[in-house]
Amino acid sequence: MRVFFSKRLVSCECCPRHCKINRLAGELSFCRTGAKAMVAHAGLHYGEEPPISGTTGSGTIFFAGCNLRCAFCQNWQISQRFDKSTVREMNPGDIADEMLRLQEAGAHNINLVSPSHVVWQIADAILLARNQGLNIPVVYNSGGYDSVEALRAITGLIDIYMPDIKYMDNTLAKKFSGAGDYADIVPGVLEEMFRQTGSLETDAEGVAIKGILVRHLVLPGHPENSRKCLGMIASLSPAIPVSLMSQYTPQFRAANHPEINRRINAEEYYELVDYAGSLGFKTLFTQDISSQDHYLPDFEKNSPFEN
Ligand code: SF4
Repeated sequence: MRVFFSKRLVSCECCPRHCKINRLAGELSFCRTGAKAMVAHAGLHYGEEPPISGTTGSGTIFFAGCNLRCAFCQNWQISQRFDKSTVREMNPGDIADEMLRLQEAGAHNINLVSPSHVVWQIADAILLARNQGLNIPVVYNSGGYDSVEALRAITGLIDIYMPDIKYMDNTLAKKFSGAGDYADIVPGVLEEMFRQTGSLETDAEGVAIKGILVRHLVLPGHPENSRKCLGMIASLSPAIPVSLMSQYTPQFRAANHPEINRRINAEEYYELVDYAGSLGFKTLFTQDISSQDHYLPDFEKNSPFEN
């Protein structure tokens, strides 16, 4: 089967940076990714929200590189400081094989982490995998800095959108993630994702089969940004399930920003939980603030490819 979407890498506009470089000719830009996607880790993951992890795990594929440069990146070993010796360059056929392997291992879904800069490669991979028997939902697990046009182009390929809405404040987005238009872009992204899949639908066991689940990683000392993010999501629909994440850990370049160089405390977290409740969200996933390490994979310790 021929690949359809990857041809668009000839002038890359995968994401809102619109670099227009020729990735097929090996040119690299902000995301440091060329024609082939780089996979840093693939395996069953049990630390996602219950409808995603279920009982048998989420078939998670972590892509190296990123179109954001978050100072506090919780996955910085693979997003910004990856070493080519620890990642696998994969063409869409290889990614499709990985998806089928994870399905065979019992995954409830295929969970694509940091897909925004490899959206065309994964679209081709999904087409190939579906053709070879992939029948579990595909989850698009992004940082929210996506191209609305690219999302429209892949309509029908993604079953579950799971964006992390990080900011509704461009000054913070520029300072911490190098994306000064994030707050202008993300409402349209969320609207498009919601338009495609609607709210979250689950099976009889409570495992997600379709829809959207929005995450928000609470940063220390920035409650107003968190309130604006929650408000924006609620204004689209309070039927959108929200996961309010307390796991923030100051690492990577967070030490350069004293205001975020600490963990969040219970008071600031539960204040936001109450605020989210006041906005009328029907489903709110919260984390026990004492279990802040729960979702953090250590990419230096884990074998990169496992079941
Ligand atoms: S995916 Fe990478 S090369 Fe393409 S527009 Fe975004 S940052 Fe630029």
